[in-house]
Amino acid sequence: MPHVEFTLSLKLESEANARGLHWRAKHARVKEIRTWAGLMTKQKMQPWMRDPVVVVVTRLAPRLLDDDNIYGSCKAVRDGIADGLGLKSDRQDKISWFAAQEKAARYSVRILIHPRTAICAVCRDKEEHDKWVLVDWRMGLGLCEKCVSYYPKDNP
Ligand SMILES: [Zn+2]
Repeated sequence: MPHVEFTLSLKLESEANARGLHWRAKHARVKEIRTWAGLMTKQKMQPWMRDPVVVVVTRLAPRLLDDDNIYGSCKAVRDGIADGLGLKSDRQDKISWFAAQEKAARYSVRILIHPRTAICAVCRDKEEHDKWVLVDWRMGLGLCEKCVSYYPKDNP
């Protein structure tokens, strides 16, 4: 599967840390992150990125955040990626968003963009995005609603 992956040397604050900043400093920081993510996405633009895509934003940091806080901390990056893809806002249905985090000695953000297409590993159907029970976008393989019923539910 085609994909684009790049890392930004950005420190994504938790919402709690960001609250301690003056609103002007916070605003400037959000704008800086959004602009940087937008420019990098635009630079990596491929023809398939005009079609629906899956975007995985992974926050790398020495300390992990609560699950509730990951999406919030990635907001400015998401807005920037949507800008870079030429979309009006991060609410666009052309993008399926996933946020993840990993422990690392230094702060950074890894961005992975895949086409939002997959083939059922069993029947080879190309189903709509919301029909998947399980999907691995990196492999471009899924398990469709039809085929999942063939799998034994009680046996390990
Ligand atoms: Zn199937």
